[in-house]
Amino acid sequence: METLPVVDPASEEVIVEVAAASASDVDLAVADAVKVAAAWRAVAPGERARLLRRFAALVEEHAEELARLESRQAGHPITAARWEAGNVADVLNYYAGAPERHTGRQIPVPGGLDVTFHEPLGVVGVIVPWNFPMVITMWGVAPALAAGNAVIVKPAESTPLTAVRLEALALEAGLPEGVLQVLPGRGEVAGAALAAHPDVRKIVFTGSVAVGREIARTAAATIKRVTLELGGNSANIVFADADLALAAAKAPGAVFDNAGQDCCARSRILVQREVYDEFLALLEPAVRAVRVGDPGDEGTEMGPLISGGHRDRVAAYLTREPDFAGTCPSGPGFWLPPAAYVDVAADDPLWTEEVFGPVVAVAPFDGEADAIAKANATPYGLSGSIWTRDTGRALRMARAVEAGNLSVNSNSSVRYWTPFGGVKQSGLGRELGPDALDAFCDTKNVFIATEE
Ligand code: NAD
Repeated sequence: METLPVVDPASEEVIVEVAAASASDVDLAVADAVKVAAAWRAVAPGERARLLRRFAALVEEHAEELARLESRQAGHPITAARWEAGNVADVLNYYAGAPERHTGRQIPVPGGLDVTFHEPLGVVGVIVPWNFPMVITMWGVAPALAAGNAVIVKPAESTPLTAVRLEALALEAGLPEGVLQVLPGRGEVAGAALAAHPDVRKIVFTGSVAVGREIARTAAATIKRVTLELGGNSANIVFADADLALAAAKAPGAVFDNAGQDCCARSRILVQREVYDEFLALLEPAVRAVRVGDPGDEGTEMGPLISGGHRDRVAAYLTREPDFAGTCPSGPGFWLPPAAYVDVAADDPLWTEEVFGPVVAVAPFDGEADAIAKANATPYGLSGSIWTRDTGRALRMARAVEAGNLSVNSNSSVRYWTPFGGVKQSGLGRELGPDALDAFCDTKNVFIATEE
């Protein structure tokens, strides 16, 4: 049996070896899930809700343990990992409110009664990346379970531990065995088997555009539903009339959070030319001040990258010295310092590609139209920020920038009760918020004749 090592990216020590699921393990898991899905959908809505609330309560009880595990396997600063454990519980509690409220419609028709039902799909596969393993797992799992589906999670090779722990907590909460299964394994083996399986009715995939495209192609063979959350290369647009000090103080956090391994990273900063120098003078000390170090320390703001391979991939973009940079530990661990590049050309890979590391590219713009053109000159469209004190401009820009999630005078993208997802090649469908539930159901229309 193949095993996969889980490596602490801050020390390079192997934490544990985890058994990797084969394609036949996936077949067995799907067969179990098909059986249990039939029973789970029949559980009364109030009882399904109660079980999900118990699951949420257990996550809260074990929040520190989950946060420590995530911090260890993914290198997240412990303060960030605590927020993530809280988000997992919040997402569960939010969707625990859904089973009794997910009402259908009654539509006026002649000669009878017409009603719609939200039918669960059956078995849903959730394929998760390594950058935010625990929260991304739950963003798929919670609404899928609430809607009455059985779920199989395929975590990323390097970060399966929190998903495995969540599976155990679900059982402890009383969810029927097999309703939530976690199968660590290789993407091209277990992930591909899940995406191809005819009894899996939907895949929620978060990861790279290349694999997302592959999943969509495989899913097409069985007309599987897909939600795709893919990459990003988001713009942070700063106008001359903005609170420059605030925009500059917040900009490092918006890109160096999770060492830049964040699909929402504002990795391109666009600054209106008249305040360009002033903004850079404010940005430089903010970048230098980012505290990079041991993820277990309470004061750490940025940890290591996920692996040596990924660090090399990011480092390959750094073909010249940055204009300014912070510092990082030397010795073991997959470290890179936060780095800023200024006056980056529109065709530079640092500008055009998703670097997915602690690197930010800065360039000037002239006026709204130029800012819109530059922000949208990317195949991606996940998130972005607009900094201005002019409300009309904020709204014009928010409508014109092609992205699924924008923030004005803020860099915050994620709230569990608002929709999240991308446009263009950043994805398909939305997670979180009130509508995510519908992505785990099909609408059934039933007409009942009242006349003979
Ligand atoms: P990845 O695409 O390499 O892997 C993601 C998952 O897919 C892993 O579990 C992997 O094992 C699995 N996988 C790989 N090949 C597969 C195949 N052929 N069939 C089925 N599954 C397969 O991505 P990654 O490197 O782990 O994550 C980084 C990417 O994820 C970045 O592009 C980032 O922007 C994106 N991301 C997007 C969001 C979002 O919500 N939009 C969130 C986080 C990360």
